[in-house]
Amino acid sequence: MNRIFNFCAGPAALPTAVLERAGAELADWHGKGMSIMEMSHRSKEFVGVAEKAEQDLRDLMLIPDNYKVLFMQGGASSQFAMVPMNLLRGKSTADYINTGQWSSKAIKEAKSFCTVNVVASTEGNNFTSAPSQAELKLNPDAAYVHYTPNETIGGVEFDYIPDTGDVPLVADYSSSILSEKIDVSKFGLIYAGAQKNIGPAGLCVVIVREDLLGDVVAGTPTMFDYKVAADNASMYNTPPTYSWYLAGLVFAWLKEQGGVEGMAEINKRKADRLYSFIDANDFYANPVAKNNRSRMNVPFTLADDALDTVFLEESEQAGLMNLAGYRSVGGMRASIYNAVPEEGVDALIAFMADFAKRHG
Ligand SMILES: *Cc1c(COP(=O)(O)O)cnc(C)c1O
Repeated sequence: MNRIFNFCAGPAALPTAVLERAGAELADWHGKGMSIMEMSHRSKEFVGVAEKAEQDLRDLMLIPDNYKVLFMQGGASSQFAMVPMNLLRGKSTADYINTGQWSSKAIKEAKSFCTVNVVASTEGNNFTSAPSQAELKLNPDAAYVHYTPNETIGGVEFDYIPDTGDVPLVADYSSSILSEKIDVSKFGLIYAGAQKNIGPAGLCVVIVREDLLGDVVAGTPTMFDYKVAADNASMYNTPPTYSWYLAGLVFAWLKEQGGVEGMAEINKRKADRLYSFIDANDFYANPVAKNNRSRMNVPFTLADDALDTVFLEESEQAGLMNLAGYRSVGGMRASIYNAVPEEGVDALIAFMADFAKRHG
């Protein structure tokens, strides 16, 4: 087997150990003579897999009992609509913090359902920082406050959890869930598309406080109602069984790595090493405010963008894949999620140093 280092922003690298295990039990799961994806989602075998995945996620994140964990479909992008449909609960406004492309998309979608108050935006500095708590102009009447703890494209991460008082806090944690310890009780709702830090695409995990369920906007499709999903253990219809199973393998792997705390230490080392190298080398630059630099997505530019194509070609030859920045942004981006090992970051830094020496 020849595994490269994959820096893709999503769908992203998965732990090799997880893929090996999934491969070993692909055609004959636990002696059943069929794969898990060929089984009924209502079979005791799959229900066991599903329940263990939920329990492992609850253990990893210390999710309180008054929160439901939903395994949904439609990606994080469907949550941009499901959040207002479920959480407006008779109110007509919601607060949104705008720190980049993903929060902008969430704002655009929410505008179909309510008046959106953008309570802070860093568009003025080209989304290279996150606002401080003091800069948030929160409205006490808002149905909820939505933000994006980690902007995957700009590489901007909040270094604190906003305090929104009694107004439920909603977070799009797609690209940084499970990367460090967070206090779930501070949130009304957390959602995350799976394909960054959880598992394969096709699954979106929603963690929601129970008391927020059951009062949807008129006309909400049944499939978009969190309470329907909760009351049916995320099996109102056929769930994405294979993605759910694989997410379960990732959760079990994370537990073996020392859980979220163990992973957070590794993530900090990886990010610190890469940013220190970029800062110390004139050939590379990262524009993000130091305290808001993402530990998961590290965008960087070369001193001469005419060299971008050569950089991408040579990095691929060196087994360092998917380093191109977001299509509308250009430059480079190294996504260093949980499944990207420290050796991958070291190999990237060694390549970048050598490239700068040869082309700088
Ligand atoms: C990737 C991403 C999304 C979009 O996820 P889909 O599953 O493709 O809908 C939304 N928000 C953030 C922060 C992301 O990183």
